[in-house]
Amino acid sequence: MECQDYGLSRTGERENLNLNPLQRGGFLTEDARKALYEFSDGYSVCDYCAGRLDEIKKPGISNFLDDLANFIGVDHARTVHGAREGKFAVMHALCQPDDTIIIDGNAHYTTYLAAERNHLNMVEVSSNDYPEYRITPENFKETLDAQFDHGEDISLILLTHVDGDYGNLTDARAIGKIARHYGVPLLLNCAYSMGRLPVDARSLKADFVVGSGHKSMAASGPIGVLGLKDEWAEVVLKRSETHGVKEIEMLGCTSRGAPIATLMASLPYVIDRVEKWDDEVQKTRDFVEKMEKIGGIKQLGVKPKDHDLVRLETPVFDEIAEKHPRRGFFLYEDLKKRNIVGIKRGQTKWFKCSTYGFNQEQTDYIARSFAEIVEKYS
Ligand SMILES: *Cc1c(COP(=O)(O)O)cnc(C)c1O
Repeated sequence: MECQDYGLSRTGERENLNLNPLQRGGFLTEDARKALYEFSDGYSVCDYCAGRLDEIKKPGISNFLDDLANFIGVDHARTVHGAREGKFAVMHALCQPDDTIIIDGNAHYTTYLAAERNHLNMVEVSSNDYPEYRITPENFKETLDAQFDHGEDISLILLTHVDGDYGNLTDARAIGKIARHYGVPLLLNCAYSMGRLPVDARSLKADFVVGSGHKSMAASGPIGVLGLKDEWAEVVLKRSETHGVKEIEMLGCTSRGAPIATLMASLPYVIDRVEKWDDEVQKTRDFVEKMEKIGGIKQLGVKPKDHDLVRLETPVFDEIAEKHPRRGFFLYEDLKKRNIVGIKRGQTKWFKCSTYGFNQEQTDYIARSFAEIVEKYS
């Protein structure tokens, strides 16, 4: 049979300035692109495997996992297929069906799905209201107290380090201290932080951390990182009864080819780039200031920004859309003419964007472009 055309080209998204926060931290390094080619065949990292993926010496996966564990401040690191698989594995190892876990109100949908797949009950810690949607240690403490007052056990606390809706950076350390005080393990979801900003599980008092290679660690993916303290190794890295060397929650082996090779190739670069995080934050704050000078644009989430993911309320674009012959599509199309992509087609009321990794000139150009589009129609 003849296959259809699958449209496997992405030059438009790659060659323009892509503002989609999802895309900013997953750009491959030159070395990662080489590794991607080198390890493009199936099972390509398994040539010299003696039964354990994490112990492979060539390519140096075991050395890589040691470096990774040091980088994120944990005793053991494993790769998984994404942050979600890491969360699922921890929940599956620690909890029984019908157990209750505490999650924050800004949790990613994959937290809910991982918990559902494990048949867990979730209790949400609510954020404060519009426009901040802040998650506070006080609210965490209140929710925990209420649970314990009802005599309910809690198997796990899952905190989103930086959420994907508002880009709010939570006070993980304070919440980690509370978790420790109550003796409940804490899993910190660092999909939007690990690889962008310094994450040290030890100082944040997290028992587990998960990260996302394709989101924030310059890897092709799908690949995630799971880090844990030694005291949990027996539970989470438990071996099979039938195949003694294999770890059950990893289903034996996780990433078996190109995705892990790209993460390995990018690690030295990622270790360096988190040191420049303060510059990224400053650039983001300046960008927000410029955007808010455009009438009616308002940043949602905690101010000033502590992360590159910015959510903007943009009624001014919505008003233009009402009269524009192309309706809501005008914004996407006007941006595209200026080689800017990554805002969803048709979306004008609000959008999320990020300038992570762009230089100052590019960032200024982006802010200026939005201002010019508003001017053009006023
Ligand atoms: C993107 C994202 C995820 C999912 O990451 P995967 O690696 O694709 O599983 C989970 N949590 C948050 C907060 C995210 O932003």
